[in-house]
Amino acid sequence: MIDEQAIKSRLVERGQQLFEAPRELVRFTSEDEADRLLNDLKGHPHAFVLACVMDRQIKAERAWLIPYRFREKLGGFSIELLSQQSEADVYRLMTEPEPLHRYVEKMSGYLSKTITRIRDVYGGNAASIWSDSPSSATVVYRFREFDGVGPKIASIAVNILARRFKVKFSDYFSIDISADVHVRRVFSRLGLAPSDATVDQLIFRARGLNPEFPGLMDFPAWEIGRKWCRPRNCDCTECYMADVCSTAERV
Ligand code: SF4
Repeated sequence: MIDEQAIKSRLVERGQQLFEAPRELVRFTSEDEADRLLNDLKGHPHAFVLACVMDRQIKAERAWLIPYRFREKLGGFSIELLSQQSEADVYRLMTEPEPLHRYVEKMSGYLSKTITRIRDVYGGNAASIWSDSPSSATVVYRFREFDGVGPKIASIAVNILARRFKVKFSDYFSIDISADVHVRRVFSRLGLAPSDATVDQLIFRARGLNPEFPGLMDFPAWEIGRKWCRPRNCDCTECYMADVCSTAERV
């Protein structure tokens, strides 16, 4: 029998520490300038939104580079400049000289629609999606209103805004965990979920454990997975979960 309460408390405590830490540059890619653009929520908040829309069916890093590639090609990245691009222009920017996405046709359409929606619904300022201290559900909903944004990326976007960019919401109930490979492995080894749990199972497990802010637990779990709870040769002696983890030293 696992000590679920102790495991949850430690994940939440570490999550809270990270949540309250000062904002730092978030690394999305391996290119500094691209990351600076994505982190510029004041000057270019649409860069973050456009990258979220592009983040499907290719490696995340490649998707998150797309706004910066547009800026390189256009010589700027203001919403006014982007709005001046026709759908044919956007398609050309996405395809030449090399395709920026695996599904350039579909993604060019999503990108054009996103720019139009930011201009028409949010007055050209994408930060209006999150700047009125809305509930977490409202922000997830607003992301889902963009064509091409599914529940997974909407949840990830809102999670990043809250945890990494320190954007304030009136609640955090609708920010779920992002069940990546590290989170999945750590949840399994801690005895919180079976190793073959589906993404939905993991999400609901986290909701049950910490309903006020389920997503608070994914960064600590990810961190444990990256630092100590590796697929092979775990470093359990260094892991702060060792005394409550039933798998410790058996992997
Ligand atoms: S104690 Fe070991 S098995 Fe358990 S979570 Fe930490 S690294 Fe993984």
